[in-house]
Amino acid sequence: MLKQGSVEALRGRVAPLEMSPDDFREVGHQLIDHIADFLGSLPARRLGPGKTPAQIRTVLGDASLPENGTPADKLLEEATNLMFDHSMFNGHPRFWGYITSSAAPIGALGDLLASTVNANVGGWALSPIQSEIEAQTVRWIAELLGYPSDCGGLLVSGGNAANFVGFLAARRKKLGADVRTKGVNISSTGQPRVYCSAETHTWIEKAADQFGIGTDSIRWIATHDSQKMDLAALRQQIEQDKTNGDTPFLVVGTAGSVGVGAVDDLPRIAALCREQDLWFHVDGAYGGFAACLPDAPPELKGLNEADSIAVDPHKWLYSALEAGCALVRDPQDLLDTFEYHPTYYKFEEEQAAEEAPINYHNYGPQNSRGFRALKVWLGLRQVGKNGYIRMISDDIQLSEHLYHLVEIHPNFEAFTQNLSITTFRYVPSNLATGSDETEEYLNTLNEKLLTELQNGGEAFVSNAVIGDTYLLRACIVNFRTALEDIEALPDIVSSIGSRVDAAIRSEYLKTQA
Ligand SMILES: *Cc1c(COP(=O)(O)O)cnc(C)c1O
Repeated sequence: MLKQGSVEALRGRVAPLEMSPDDFREVGHQLIDHIADFLGSLPARRLGPGKTPAQIRTVLGDASLPENGTPADKLLEEATNLMFDHSMFNGHPRFWGYITSSAAPIGALGDLLASTVNANVGGWALSPIQSEIEAQTVRWIAELLGYPSDCGGLLVSGGNAANFVGFLAARRKKLGADVRTKGVNISSTGQPRVYCSAETHTWIEKAADQFGIGTDSIRWIATHDSQKMDLAALRQQIEQDKTNGDTPFLVVGTAGSVGVGAVDDLPRIAALCREQDLWFHVDGAYGGFAACLPDAPPELKGLNEADSIAVDPHKWLYSALEAGCALVRDPQDLLDTFEYHPTYYKFEEEQAAEEAPINYHNYGPQNSRGFRALKVWLGLRQVGKNGYIRMISDDIQLSEHLYHLVEIHPNFEAFTQNLSITTFRYVPSNLATGSDETEEYLNTLNEKLLTELQNGGEAFVSNAVIGDTYLLRACIVNFRTALEDIEALPDIVSSIGSRVDAAIRSEYLKTQA
């Protein structure tokens, strides 16, 4: 304990973390200069460090918790070098892995601004302009998707969290208010059932597990060859479960599957849900924003019939991580799902006389909340709806062109092209294909090729598996990718492929070596 009297030393207190405005300006300008140089240097950089976890840890060093501090300028210099020399650059024009977009630079500046003001967007009184900007962002996202703009919604950490919000709203609405107090009680409700295609992202398992219905309640509906949900199978499973006394409550349609970008027939799923009185949720984390394109297919535009939608601004709105968004048709359903009135908040009473303010802690799982919406709002204002239509359709056009290039290339087999995802594999032109043995070899070859490609730092794609076939998968959610980047990919992959093939074929294929 400090001695009595030492409190006098705190008059005019300056804490160790404080920075004077002049220091901040100087260090901040240096940082911004480095960031601007970095952005300019991206195309010339290797995509990633190509190092093992142990090598990266060596770079970082294994110092224990510092007893004392380091000056901010030195520290930021060091952190900047660590970031710029040892990261995987998803902002590089040739990054096409997973579904991870390049980030709009304006979002980086927005994040700096948001964290400087540091509003807590859990309560309106703590974030007056921020709460209204978030509400406007949610309305604009709804407009972009063709969803009613008086819907409820909020920004969350990503697609998983946005899907969880939809799942919880469905659970509350269809299983009843008791589910919030008594939990899921199978003896009174029957076994709850959730329906989704076999291609659904793993969030559904996390949701079923964490929110008390268990992963066994998921009905994985088969897909057609195109990887879209088989709707006859869906109907049959729902009817059979109802006959057995179970309680179907939720159908999840996917607008852009994580594997190959398949879009379920959303209008027909919507009609079935209305007929069967089920909640219809759309996972549009990847493909949802493509619904803004004037020529989007009706299966995709049908996402506007959903009871809830999850989209991911950190995917096709190119917002920096993290930004997901959940939309729910009726805002009351969010309040019914999440609202409590603790005694330590008096936000509601404070403004009771006026129109009710939006207190975001009542609309979702978080309490204190950062201002994620700013970077999304800035992007929407910087380029407008037309800017997004152009960037999303350019990504799709480049992906279609990649499909064409691998289709005509003698060393590739093209598989699928949906939205901005193209799948293909390397097949040496002198390999006699068709047997189980060569199929197995091609899987091994493409897997090893992919590892080499990812470590090589020239271009980055990831993989998909269709049936028993291992594929390379390029997903373009990257506004920096230009035609010449796409044109370069086949030769990059082909030269790695022929090197790997030459090194391993005799080991795997005795007959064709
Ligand atoms: C990316 C993705 C998710 C998960 O989103 P995160 O932002 O990674 O949490 C869920 N569903 C689909 C279809 C996705 O593409």
